[in-house]
Amino acid sequence: MTRHKAIASHEELVDIIRALVPSDIYYSTAYYARPAEEMERKSWLGSDLVFDVDADHIETSCKAAHDMWRCNSCGLTKRGNCPAQCPNCGKTKFEERTWFCDECLKAAKNEVVKLVDFLRNDFGIPEQDMRIFFSGHRGYHLHVRTEEVRKLDESQRKEIVDYVLGLGLDAFYQGLYKKPRDAIVGPQREDPGWRGRFARGIYRLVLEGTEDELVKMGFTPRLARRIIRERPQIQEEWRGKILWGEFEDRFHVKDTTWRSIIEQAVLKGALPAEIDTVVTTDTHRLIRLPETLNGKTGLRAMAVPNFDTFDPFTDPIAFEGEETVRVIEAPAFRMGKTTYGPYTEEDVTVQAAAAMLLLCKGVGRPVQK
Ligand SMILES: [Zn+2]
Ligand SMILES: [Zn+2]
Repeated sequence: MTRHKAIASHEELVDIIRALVPSDIYYSTAYYARPAEEMERKSWLGSDLVFDVDADHIETSCKAAHDMWRCNSCGLTKRGNCPAQCPNCGKTKFEERTWFCDECLKAAKNEVVKLVDFLRNDFGIPEQDMRIFFSGHRGYHLHVRTEEVRKLDESQRKEIVDYVLGLGLDAFYQGLYKKPRDAIVGPQREDPGWRGRFARGIYRLVLEGTEDELVKMGFTPRLARRIIRERPQIQEEWRGKILWGEFEDRFHVKDTTWRSIIEQAVLKGALPAEIDTVVTTDTHRLIRLPETLNGKTGLRAMAVPNFDTFDPFTDPIAFEGEETVRVIEAPAFRMGKTTYGPYTEEDVTVQAAAAMLLLCKGVGRPVQK
């Protein structure tokens, strides 16, 4: 690690990169009066508000198919989750190799879309003040670089994190209330903040949720099937507005069921609790420098110009031409428009970006022509 550098110009940066040839390059999201000094002497002036949404921390079904492990003792290499004990030699030390695919990155993208909605509509941060970056691997970074956020301290940033995770949220303080022996009153979809968010969640669950989802919300399977059957009438009567009291009466919704309905709606509206929130609360964070190569993939970490059309397996490609690689073992993967693999112990000639990925992932080595 080479740290505490202050670099004044693009030329100087390029010179340092050429001299060090680092596998990964990071910069500090903090602003300092004296950035080249030791930590205690830098004098903190503020820092960008940064979110790291990484598929590493999101449950996806693809991981069991494309993540790999290798036994340190006998070299046995297999796909899927790392076992506690090697089935071949019984040892317990492994090297894990994670992979990434369209499903992982789609999951991360969905969470970023949610995050943008929170920041824009709940915190009033204009979309042009948010910048989204692809990490070059399994996720995206969202940066807010305005004066307003720069001075936020760690506990203030923690409040923002708690808000987007829906932590400590009590719907009974969010427009939903019920007096004894009185009809329940609740928020509507167009309400601001979490009120509207969980009204939209409940609206969707009631009118579109599967039987499974309704049962998870606390309805009996019989009642769940009845809700599904009576959807045309509910939709007709509701006319876009949730009739809380009417719904409660018709389906005998108990207070405990309301609680779990709301929990489900919050869960769906919030960012997953596994998101790496330290990145956001740490006011001295180092984050990957855009337009540098990610050492785990050989792909560019880059600003995403248009999130709707961005292709993480095409747009960040940095290498041209073809290369031959001896692959030990790799799952099927896409690079550009081409799908490669799976490979086991073979020499393959592939586009340079795919070859670089195999090398960076440690599953292949160069073949001399
Ligand atoms: Zn082994
Ligand atoms: Zn995946």
